[in-house]
Amino acid sequence: MEVLRRHDPRSAPLPLVLDSPHSGTDYPADFDHLPPRMVVRQAEDTFVGELYAFAPQMGVTLVEALFPRAYIDPNRNLADIDQALLAQRWPGQVTRSRKTELGIGLVWRLAQGGVPMYSRTLSVKEVERRIAGYYKPYHAAVAAAIDERHRQFGAVWHLNCHSMPAVGDVMSDDPGRARADFVLGDRDGTTCEAEFTAFVAKTLGAMGYHVAINDPYKGVELVRLHGCPAEHRHSLQIEINRRLYLEEITLTKNAGYDRLQANLRRCLDALGGYVRARL
Ligand SMILES: [Zn+2]
Repeated sequence: MEVLRRHDPRSAPLPLVLDSPHSGTDYPADFDHLPPRMVVRQAEDTFVGELYAFAPQMGVTLVEALFPRAYIDPNRNLADIDQALLAQRWPGQVTRSRKTELGIGLVWRLAQGGVPMYSRTLSVKEVERRIAGYYKPYHAAVAAAIDERHRQFGAVWHLNCHSMPAVGDVMSDDPGRARADFVLGDRDGTTCEAEFTAFVAKTLGAMGYHVAINDPYKGVELVRLHGCPAEHRHSLQIEINRRLYLEEITLTKNAGYDRLQANLRRCLDALGGYVRARL
């Protein structure tokens, strides 16, 4: 089974890399989750990879995960282990995070609504297999794409692409709150130059979208790992409100999908101009 797909530029490459870690829908045969598949699927950022499918034509490199994030979440730290889910003591480092407290660490303990993901504990071996077979290849592909462009241009801009429920649920830090159209996360200004965040916010804002910054999502592992502005590595998390393109219960595209995609294309086109001007 394919774990990820890398889409290389189909025109002159730009130092612009996108990754979509949560839009995978290929459920592995050994993922014996307890709730119905449609409940587990609410964890997905469904169609996010597809929304940006135009990007390689613009010189952008796109990496997308094909496995579901509820199986193993590439946007978590490897130490974000939920010991309560395991049959044995985890042999490596464990750093208990807010995400693990919410039941959504490296391997999710809970599905939507806070219901248990499994009827059993998981063995250390099977979590290690998920890390080796899915997490690490995905991380290697994202790092390779970013490093290649950085070597080539001396600078790189990375968009870590997601979508979010329209309203915070019980597994978020803002239950019941309606979200902005877009949330940009640069971990409070630490993962990219301030101008990059401001440019994306301004570009989306000019299209009429309401854009929030670092609220409620600041960005997690992938921007933390790849954002190093001092080395001209800029990494920004971008969350799209699912109501702009998705029926959240059935996970089908809604009437807004095409318009959103056209606007994302305009946004990326503007970003192409931004990075060219910064080189
Ligand atoms: Zn996501």
